[in-house]
Amino acid sequence: MTLKLDINPIKAWMPNIDNPLLISGPCSLETEEQTMETARLLAKDKRVFVFRGGVWKPRTRPGSFEGVGSIGLKWLQQVKEETGLPVGTEVANAQHTEEALKAGLDVLWIGARSTASPFVVQEIADVVKGTDTVVMIKNPVNPDVQLWMGAVERIHQAGVKNIVGIHRGFTPFRETKYRNYPNWKTFIELKRLLPNLPVICDPSHIAGTREYLFEISQKAFDMGMEGLMIESHRDPSCALSDAGQQLTPADLGKMLDKLVIRYENASNPEFDNQLDVLRNRIDAIDAELLETLASRVQIVKQIGEYKRDNNVTALQINRWTQLMENRVKLGQSMDINETFVKILFQLIHEDSVRMQTEIMDQE
Ligand code: PEP
Ligand code: MN
Repeated sequence: MTLKLDINPIKAWMPNIDNPLLISGPCSLETEEQTMETARLLAKDKRVFVFRGGVWKPRTRPGSFEGVGSIGLKWLQQVKEETGLPVGTEVANAQHTEEALKAGLDVLWIGARSTASPFVVQEIADVVKGTDTVVMIKNPVNPDVQLWMGAVERIHQAGVKNIVGIHRGFTPFRETKYRNYPNWKTFIELKRLLPNLPVICDPSHIAGTREYLFEISQKAFDMGMEGLMIESHRDPSCALSDAGQQLTPADLGKMLDKLVIRYENASNPEFDNQLDVLRNRIDAIDAELLETLASRVQIVKQIGEYKRDNNVTALQINRWTQLMENRVKLGQSMDINETFVKILFQLIHEDSVRMQTEIMDQE
């Protein structure tokens, strides 16, 4: 069910923004010099609106660099003073949150591992209660849209209105091209459930390697996401965490130059008219599709009765295999995606079998 929560648009807390919200900075703050140099370079690019830096790092296995801890908050304050950029870090418990608020950080984000734990989210919600801080909520590591939505609701129930979702992909269950599987449909479902929630994309943690950052960022804009959180380090090859996926500020600038930014509406009446014409055609085609399906259902039922009267099973594997092969070939000859045709006919066939078994069981 769609929930209309009272969540502010990004412009409410970032009034001078006329571009996508770009958040950038290193995966981890490592030293004062590394923090300041990266921040200075990023601040020169006026497309960067917020500086990020991990201070407490959730690492999957112990023994990796776990962040510099509270000292990093001081460096973030310094970045804010010197560059004027709002600053943010990840918080994963009540103590982190208290310290980050005390240090005057502008943005706090809840990491993917924490979003998966309602106790952790509630603990953070209790500390941010009633503040006007910006809380960003990454998707949980598993593609569970309810868990992601629940975290947004917990923060919202604490009276926080400046909330942003961050899509950072999901732990894959097999070897995939990307470090984290994007499963874009989870983002679409979250937007359906919470239409007011601004959502940005974190291509760094989806990609895992620099070479895929551009294509994921472009896809995020194509799908209407409102910004990006991208990791950037003055010297990625020496980074203590996520070295393979970070960009130098200069390379980030080059990548941004190539990205096409898209808007939900074109504010151009000519475009709107043309879109309406095309959409009317789609509506008519969809109606025809459904009418065709309804005729198919009638015949499926007739066959069901015929099979019942002759004591023949609803499912006949040979027929099903032949049908699928034929439909895939036919689809290919019409330039329709093979996987799509397969899934479509699996659904159609599954429902035909269901209808026929129901007809048989009525007897
Ligand atoms: C991060 O942003 O550096 C981070 C640890 O992200 P995630 O929670 O998405 O893994
Ligand atoms: Mn990282």
